[in-house]
Amino acid sequence: MRIVMKFGGALMDGAERINNSASLVAESIIKGDEVIVVVSAMSNVTDELIDMAESAKLGNMEKVRERVKKIEEYHLETARKLCSGEVLTETESKIKSLIEMLTQCLTGVFLLRELTPRSMDLIQSFGERLSAPLMRAALVERGIKAVDLTGGDAGIITDSNYGNAKPLMNLTEIMVRDRILPMLKAGVTPVVTGFIAQDSNGVITTLGRGGSDFTATILAAALDADEVWLWKDVDGIMSADPKLVPEAKTIPILSYNEVMEMAYFGAKVLHPLTVSPVQNKRIPIRIRNAFNKSHPGTLIKEKPDMTKKVKAVTAINNVSIINVGGAGMIGVPSVVARVFDALAANNVNVIMISQSSSQADISMVVKKSDLEKALKVLKLEFRNGEMIRDIYSIPNAAVIAIVGEGMRGMKGIAAKTFTAVAEAGVNILMIAQGSSEFNISFAVLEEDMKKSVEAIHKAFELDK
Ligand code: ASP
Ligand code: MG
Repeated sequence: MRIVMKFGGALMDGAERINNSASLVAESIIKGDEVIVVVSAMSNVTDELIDMAESAKLGNMEKVRERVKKIEEYHLETARKLCSGEVLTETESKIKSLIEMLTQCLTGVFLLRELTPRSMDLIQSFGERLSAPLMRAALVERGIKAVDLTGGDAGIITDSNYGNAKPLMNLTEIMVRDRILPMLKAGVTPVVTGFIAQDSNGVITTLGRGGSDFTATILAAALDADEVWLWKDVDGIMSADPKLVPEAKTIPILSYNEVMEMAYFGAKVLHPLTVSPVQNKRIPIRIRNAFNKSHPGTLIKEKPDMTKKVKAVTAINNVSIINVGGAGMIGVPSVVARVFDALAANNVNVIMISQSSSQADISMVVKKSDLEKALKVLKLEFRNGEMIRDIYSIPNAAVIAIVGEGMRGMKGIAAKTFTAVAEAGVNILMIAQGSSEFNISFAVLEEDMKKSVEAIHKAFELDK
């Protein structure tokens, strides 16, 4: 089998964990599989890099240097525990030269007091570029021929939308095959940095936070892999956030569509675009626990498992509701367009929308951090007040979504959901159903989120 295996930050955090991850790769290689490894930065390193870049911009270079030193020491210490001799010398010198480059980048930000999205991507890229040589070293120590590569070296080419770049799939397929297939043929295991790629000018880009999952599926699609294994430190995708519902269970099978809906509605399991590259090629994804190998995890594939109509209940908090109303809106289609144009032009992402059939009201959900901006934009757009009378907001809200392909065409799911919520004493502020019928979503006050999720989880017997 040809398998792309991705290891998240928690599985790269220190020598013991990297060794555990490397042994999972080795196990498959010994069985005769071809493995392409994708790694994340060690836990928290990406957050640290972002924070250091912001700090450098504000002029705190002294502190930043100390923090870089800490990152360097941790990576060097990990290297010394993982390998010895020539491999160690190589790995140490890679780490040192990356740290040198990182210091230069941060110094540049400090001197210019300027941090562009392009520089931010370059700075973020050091997390994965520092972790990949460690995984490579651990594999080489096990007698496996391995090389470490950046996403760009591996052939992933994106647009230049820094911070959230999208792969140019046609080009990427050609390039990835060109770079990686000869390695596999020669019995060499590529260790590719997740999350980072490059644009067609060779400038480093990133695929958005949590992007290593996406890297794995991009490579799998390009290489026609048989499967993608996303190794995590949990048993799989769960029926609800276990912090909200302790009885939440691992879901054995999910369809591509179900996973996309879940990722969109706040289940922080996968990068939201993870399934898109493999969907057409029907390459299955397995989520597996690196510390609990015997657990089957979650299998993501094309066909849904129809034994349960609702698979999961997810929740997003830190959102706000904005209501735009006024009799002047009735029958004036341009008002709706103006609302969304104005928000889009100011980079406010609308998470959920509903419009009453009287057309006198539009409600929408935005991130709480966008609320102030959104209100300002809307008030400015409709400043003459002739069409829109009121714009008001509910700052502390949560969106809850129930997801499952088996809901399509089924009667009574909405009724059951809202009965459960009502019985929990929760008032629903807003409702929307996607026309795909794979989800029903609604908004409640943030303080009612946990109660609502628990009630729905129970009503649909997701704990069974
Ligand atoms: N290191 C990146 C992040 O923390 C990418 C990833 O972990 O998937 O967002
Ligand atoms: Mg990470």
